[in-house]
Amino acid sequence: MSKTRKLIIIGSGPAALTAAIYASRANLEPLMYEGFYSGTPGGQLMTTTEVENYPGFPKGIAGPELMQLCREQALRFGTEILTEDVQFVDLSQRPFKIKGQKTNSEAQALIIATGATAKLLDVEGTRPGEFWQKGVTACAVCDGAAPIFRNRPLYVIGGGDSACEEAIFLTKFGSKVYLVHRRDELRASKIMAERALNHPKIEPLWNRVLVSVGGDNVVRQVVLEDVKTGKHEEREAAGVFFAIGFTPNTAFLQNQIELEENLYIKVRPGTTQTNVEGVFAAGDVQDHIYRQAVTAAGSGCMAALDAERWLSAKGLIE
Ligand SMILES: Cc1cc2nc3c(=O)[nH]c(=O)nc-3n(C[C@H](O)[C@H](O)[C@H](O)COP(=O)(O)OP(=O)(O)OC[C@H]3O[C@@H](n4cnc5c(N)ncnc54)[C@H](O)[C@@H]3O)c2cc1C
Repeated sequence: MSKTRKLIIIGSGPAALTAAIYASRANLEPLMYEGFYSGTPGGQLMTTTEVENYPGFPKGIAGPELMQLCREQALRFGTEILTEDVQFVDLSQRPFKIKGQKTNSEAQALIIATGATAKLLDVEGTRPGEFWQKGVTACAVCDGAAPIFRNRPLYVIGGGDSACEEAIFLTKFGSKVYLVHRRDELRASKIMAERALNHPKIEPLWNRVLVSVGGDNVVRQVVLEDVKTGKHEEREAAGVFFAIGFTPNTAFLQNQIELEENLYIKVRPGTTQTNVEGVFAAGDVQDHIYRQAVTAAGSGCMAALDAERWLSAKGLIE
């Protein structure tokens, strides 16, 4: 086992990298596990094309390029990065023990920024290399304003609160928004369902599932199946938005940290402090509401500052 670290950061999206930039500039010499199999190192923005809402890039920036720049910035100030998954952490003893795929280490403080993974359906035409990010996406707030969706028919797949919210948001852009749901009523809360169903631009398509997505260089049509009759129908489409939820990447914690009912990490309101002293959480892994790169980066900054203050208060750093 190598020397005990002041701080270990787990993750590699905007939250982890911002935490790394702040922590390394504060001489905490952080070690970061950026993941390997657990998700693309760099996080969710590695799966997108243009990011148009991250401040400082008036012309937009490609998601992977933004993450590469953040990574370089973290390295510049001395962050050490391991391209490994953390498989297990032992928070019952101090320093905390971290078990990676190849490297075991220990740390006085820990920042967990392992993000969340969008749930997708394995449907023909929606996979990377097909129409993913060419009309198919999992984030209406992020991608809805793209020109390809303007005044065109859009399809939201799902039936919960997120699906209703995304459909309502998309009415600003699409000519019509179809809410595709496999049952004949929404799972969403009554108030959200009513707001969506009363919207003049939203039309529910009950008892339907998405069978395939087609087009040329962008999405042009979808095929839906009526689950009651088995009949297939091809419809004109410009966008397909998966809104069937996210899974926070918290399984490796094995219940050592208090989680919300929906398995997101619970933090003390207004801070990044978890219920285990010295363990902080940042980004989408503790945020099922905003889920944006800039909010993830903001909470990564908070986590680094919280960790530094905690280490200092405990006399673990000068
Ligand atoms: C298709 C799509 C488009 C988007 N577009 C935009 C946009 O335009 N603008 C915007 O603001 N937001 C956008 N978002 C949302 C944004 O990407 C997320 O809010 C943001 O990436 C969350 O950052 P994060 O740091 O919390 O974690 P994530 O980006 O989720 O990264 C977490 C990373 O941690 C690593 N990891 C996970 N588990 C482990 C482990 N056990 N050990 C080690 N490493 C691990 C993995 O590499 C994982 O990828 C988009 C999201 C999607 C899905």
